[in-house]
Amino acid sequence: LGGAARLYTEEDPLVILSSGSLRTTVSNSSSAWLVQFFSSWCGHCIQYSGTWKALAGDVQEWQEAISVGVLDCAQEENFDVCKEFSIKFYPTFKYFRAHSLPTDRGTTYKGADREIQSVRQLMVNILQNHTRMDRPQHCPPLEPYSSAELLPLLGQRSDNFTAIIVEEPDSYVGREVILDLLQYSGVQVRRALSSDLPLLDALKISTFPSIYLLQPNGTHTHLHSDKKLRFFFSSLLKALPGVQRRSQAASSSSSVGQVENAAVTVCVYRSKVYLADLDSALHYLLRVEMATHTTLEGEELQVFKDFVTMVAKLYPGGAWVVKLMETLSDWLLSLPLQRIPYQAVLDLVDNKMRISGVYLGAELHWVGCQGSRAGLRGYPCSLWTLFHVLTVRHEATPTALDNTGSAPVLQVMRRYIRTFFGCEVCGRHFEQTAADSLDSVQSREEQILWLWRTHNRVNNRLAGSLSDDPLFPKSPWPSTSLCSSCHEEKNGVHVWNHDNVLHFLQRHYGNANLSPRYSL
Ligand code: FAD
Repeated sequence: LGGAARLYTEEDPLVILSSGSLRTTVSNSSSAWLVQFFSSWCGHCIQYSGTWKALAGDVQEWQEAISVGVLDCAQEENFDVCKEFSIKFYPTFKYFRAHSLPTDRGTTYKGADREIQSVRQLMVNILQNHTRMDRPQHCPPLEPYSSAELLPLLGQRSDNFTAIIVEEPDSYVGREVILDLLQYSGVQVRRALSSDLPLLDALKISTFPSIYLLQPNGTHTHLHSDKKLRFFFSSLLKALPGVQRRSQAASSSSSVGQVENAAVTVCVYRSKVYLADLDSALHYLLRVEMATHTTLEGEELQVFKDFVTMVAKLYPGGAWVVKLMETLSDWLLSLPLQRIPYQAVLDLVDNKMRISGVYLGAELHWVGCQGSRAGLRGYPCSLWTLFHVLTVRHEATPTALDNTGSAPVLQVMRRYIRTFFGCEVCGRHFEQTAADSLDSVQSREEQILWLWRTHNRVNNRLAGSLSDDPLFPKSPWPSTSLCSSCHEEKNGVHVWNHDNVLHFLQRHYGNANLSPRYSL
């Protein structure tokens, strides 16, 4: 593998450039570019790669205005281009304005401070350094608006929300939130300065930064945010009814706040976990996903046995599902056979158990996992939910798996996904993450957090993709409205409070939060 492949991969939220692609990518681009020229043998570059990836993740949603790239000067194919761009030391940071000429070799950032917050502010400055004429096509104005421009908007009806962030002159929050919302339609974000007295007077604002919202119906209000931080402001705005990613808005015909499809039939609380989803996950897993395997033997049989045992011991739901899983588990463990036809499992699930009144519901019924149209959410959503519930349950009942001979729960889930999960690419991604980091998981609490972190990585990768349901857009979870104390800022960068996340997950996926409403 080349150096770039080791330090940065396609999974990272940045663009890996090479001699072949550098010029064509950065010149005459509709966005500005910030490129780190590094060398994979340079120790500091290796140390710094984590910061650069975190920066790229932090500003991923700004890429239509300014994109982040890397180029490895230690790769032989890149020797010439690094010379041409006068890269003498590693890392060298160069930025390129939008619509730059092919002869432009970029401007070198010489600042000693390379921490995320400083580089992010540099990116804002780069964008502000454009003129009205050569500004990146998708970049809205970042300059402050005046009361003369904003006050006439009060009381006016509009198709969109308008958010006004009022802040001190040296604050970057307003500009960062404008850029965070770049890919979203349904809201326009403006900034104004705390020195604009007529505005403060009219909006009755006295603390900064503050966010004020003009609603489509002409009313306006101060928007309350638990913490006056960029992440909280951006999350609040993204959660407004009708605000959605432009790619999703284009593929969906829904208007502000409306559920587009009659398929969403029940009132769902996002703060609840629904037993119907867990039951449906098992229904689909046993009757559809597993049923594509006509016989089970060797490793497959072992994986299935472990999975059924884990569910039998930890499933929190109705007694009859537990009874079914226990019976299935006992039956599988008592079998002297090395090879079983899957039809025997189906017979047991469908018929024999029914005689004793213990059976799995005959229909799929998604509640919390209901999509806004067919083909969205459903089974994969319910499988994640089941996995989270099981890790939390295992922590609450530590001895449940004693003497079962079963592997740790995450290993059982990993093997199930690798062996049986119908989405093969998903299975490969999950396996890669598990191979990279599962060994470091030592406790049951860490299991809960590992699964949460891994799920968020998938959310991050899929945000804005075609499988993203416009009514349930993928984003860092839990949101600020579900768990405000889970979110903090350190040196201007969003961080999770892991203790609070753990407590939240234990509560959210714990027995007391499982709703039997709409059960099968
Ligand atoms: P989901 O992501 O399925 O989440 C379900 C519910 O879990 C959410 O509604 C929310 O309440 C809660 N939740 C969200 N995030 C977290 C979190 N971090 N921790 C705890 N709870 C959370 N699809 C792909 O296209 N590519 C993949 O590589 C891929 N890998 C997958 C791997 C696994 C193991 C699974 C089970 C699914 C995978 N999928 C993948 C499917 C994808 O992740 C979603 O499940 C699917 O797109 C449906 O999304 P959803 O909006 O219903 O929410």
